[in-house]
Amino acid sequence: MQFKHDTLRSQFYNLNATDPRLRAVAAELDFFFQQKFGRELLVTSVWRTEEEQKELYPQFFAWAGRVRPSAHLDTPCRAIDLRSRDLRPEEIEALWNYFETWWDELPGWAILANDRGEGFPHIHIQVGKK
Ligand SMILES: [Zn+2]
Repeated sequence: MQFKHDTLRSQFYNLNATDPRLRAVAAELDFFFQQKFGRELLVTSVWRTEEEQKELYPQFFAWAGRVRPSAHLDTPCRAIDLRSRDLRPEEIEALWNYFETWWDELPGWAILANDRGEGFPHIHIQVGKK
């Protein structure tokens, strides 16, 4: 697994502030991806502050008067983003299928691909609340 910058690596491997189930599922997806496609996934986001969330979703903030809820905001953090702009559609589909095969029936667990459209291509993975 690769990280866009070292701060993300520190966040990801933080024992107390990142949900260990998130680490486990992300590591498994990276392992699967390497076996199938011969390269690593790139982590682009782990923890997020309310200020950062407000900047990412200004319309939600204007409409609701609060930041958009996100598992990135939780402590321990329950979400991670992966870069998808370098991935082919069939590679994204393979990740999605693998996640759905093993984790889709767990409450609150999710994989979302490019949910903000082409302008912000990424894959969001989250685990449920404990
Ligand atoms: Zn996300």
